[in-house]
Amino acid sequence: MGISEFELIREYFADVTGSRTDVSLGIGDDCALLQPPAGSLLAVSVDTLVEGRHFSAGAEPVSLGHKALAVNLSDLAAMGAEPAWVMLALTLPAPDAAWLQGFVRGFGALAAGYGVQLVGGDTTRGPLSITVQVTGFIEPGGALTRGGGKAGDRLFVSGCVGDAGLALAQGGGSIHSDHGMARLRERLDRPQPRVALGRLLRGLASAAIDISDGLTADLGHICSASGTGARVDLESLPVSAPVRAECARGHWQYALAGGDDYELLFSVPPGRVGDLLLACRDAGERVQEIGCLAEDSGIVLVYPGGRESEEIPDGFDHFRP
Ligand code: ADP
Ligand code: MG
Repeated sequence: MGISEFELIREYFADVTGSRTDVSLGIGDDCALLQPPAGSLLAVSVDTLVEGRHFSAGAEPVSLGHKALAVNLSDLAAMGAEPAWVMLALTLPAPDAAWLQGFVRGFGALAAGYGVQLVGGDTTRGPLSITVQVTGFIEPGGALTRGGGKAGDRLFVSGCVGDAGLALAQGGGSIHSDHGMARLRERLDRPQPRVALGRLLRGLASAAIDISDGLTADLGHICSASGTGARVDLESLPVSAPVRAECARGHWQYALAGGDDYELLFSVPPGRVGDLLLACRDAGERVQEIGCLAEDSGIVLVYPGGRESEEIPDGFDHFRP
């Protein structure tokens, strides 16, 4: 973009620049200069949101700013890392002041909430696309990977699952009350990354992942990385009233494959479950046991009443715009 357009953008991002002491040089030069804590590993991750694929045209900019950062913080949470720095590559059809103000408000509020500093990025003209790269810190050996699970480990999920998938499937529809729909949309548009829970799980969880593609798809990633299968007790899934109503009608796909939940799914050795529950109670973190990792490969779904099935309801791609 031209200089004046870029100046405009820089003006909007001035508030997100923060003042972490480990940032020697932030936005403005050819590179940022950053000082990681001695002995720490850097946890880095990047995610792109593309208009028409991850969000629909005309999506509200405050929510987009929030979500673009939230999905990246969720990856750090899933590793148990401490969020620190973020970079933002924006491709915009035009430098729209109102859009930028909204985007920065959503992005900045979440960044401030986690003490994360925007240290650089890139701005180009083109179809709307948002790429965010985050960096966090983690002690060597302290990261929660997908691969440490063992058969017999108990399986847990945070918060509740399926709201975002149901909101996406319903679009602006009004099957549920307006209030109910607004709550579902909030879960889709403003996911809360489970950073504090990820921190708490260090040393307790044997494997962890954040749920972006849907519970069963992401459980599949834990299973293949850990060399296990899993059993999921569907009756124990934590779901909101609207998702529970769908499950009762046989529509398990929202809870199992809806995606975009950004909750944490993790396994815990049986001997550590007591410690986990105590730590979660003290920290006010909501977690629910939903099954276990198993010797036999594949995911077995145990329906209420006891019927077992390895058939997974349709995944999230089905619901995409
Ligand atoms: P260069 O041409 O050297 O890559 P740019 O003009 O792209 O420099 O960027 C100038 C400075 O502004 C850099 O420090 C860059 O990191 C920062 N920057 C550019 N776009 C953004 C953005 N969308 N968010 C945050 N920082 C940005
Ligand atoms: Mg550049």
